[in-house]
Amino acid sequence: MGRDVTLRYIDPLAQVWLDAARRIGLRVTRTPDTYASTDGRGTLAIAVDRELDPDDSLAQMIFHELCHSLVEGEQSFTAPDWGMDNTGPDHDWREHAGLRVQWVLTGRHGLRTLFAPTTDFRAFWDGLSGDVLADRTDPSVQAAVAGLRRAERPPWGPALEDALAATARIAAEASRFASPGGPELAPLWTAIAPSPAPHPTGLPARMTAGAPEMTCGDCAWRYESRGRTRCRQVDATTRIDDAWPACERFEAALDCQTCGACCRAAYHSVEVSPRDPVVKKQPQLIVKRETYLELQRTGDRCAALHGGTIEAGTTTRYHCTIYDDRPRTCRDFTLGSEHCLTARRRVGLTL
Ligand code: SF4
Ligand code: SF4
Repeated sequence: MGRDVTLRYIDPLAQVWLDAARRIGLRVTRTPDTYASTDGRGTLAIAVDRELDPDDSLAQMIFHELCHSLVEGEQSFTAPDWGMDNTGPDHDWREHAGLRVQWVLTGRHGLRTLFAPTTDFRAFWDGLSGDVLADRTDPSVQAAVAGLRRAERPPWGPALEDALAATARIAAEASRFASPGGPELAPLWTAIAPSPAPHPTGLPARMTAGAPEMTCGDCAWRYESRGRTRCRQVDATTRIDDAWPACERFEAALDCQTCGACCRAAYHSVEVSPRDPVVKKQPQLIVKRETYLELQRTGDRCAALHGGTIEAGTTTRYHCTIYDDRPRTCRDFTLGSEHCLTARRRVGLTL
């Protein structure tokens, strides 16, 4: 006698990531016709299992596509394939940015092997090590930093973090039952690393394998207030210790000439006092508004700022062409301050 089937089995990791995709606003379909693609109308198509490599999974494929969406931004949900066309001079660094995001997010949970990508760019992934966000002059690093900041807010957050944490728990349990024996490929569950302990501040720990050891005492975001050592990246009441190993947000000495954030897109206007000497010294750069004066802008930046073009994969150095005459507003802007952190975050230079 037949029976009524009322439920169906779904692989636990697939369940976690199908739900994450749903919460983020994507419907996942399976197809034999493509490896992975989006239609710009909320559907993410992933190859059926028989088209995937033995070390791949629906869960990893969904996660990988979400890393692309983090790099490409909110508007990418309405563009086929996240607005990426697989050609053109900008394609490679955007792929690299997605993989840097994937590297950092998986590293926080010990999932680098379980959730390694299987794309044509796997060789780039295999070459990553240490602090993959260290070179902030690299456009793919800047795009990755901006993507990682997006991960914390909707539509990605908190669904993405929930799914990664659940994946780590499932992986930890499965790894207890996995052994490499036999002639077949060893199960992926044999390659699960423990989730790294967080930094004492609660921020993610810095992944130092292959990178020089750094401490809070070496960091640009460390500052002193009322005789106490503190960090711009955490609550102002939290004290830190110079001897602590650095967290994921560690940055060495900041360099305005590779940044320029406060002079460009981070802020929309540089107001100038009528009494500021720059008004007489650089009149061609002063714009009179109804109730105030401001420095002229070219596109999204101050007209006095030069540099910042991408040449041979590197961002050229910024410089202020009226540095000695710059207005008070600019002179008062302090390197490493709260405003500096905000500016750098707005342009994707700082986590
Ligand atoms: S941002 Fe810098 S100072 Fe702050 S906790 Fe991290 S390493 Fe330490
Ligand atoms: S935001 Fe900070 S690091 Fe960047 S140019 Fe301004 S002061 Fe320098």
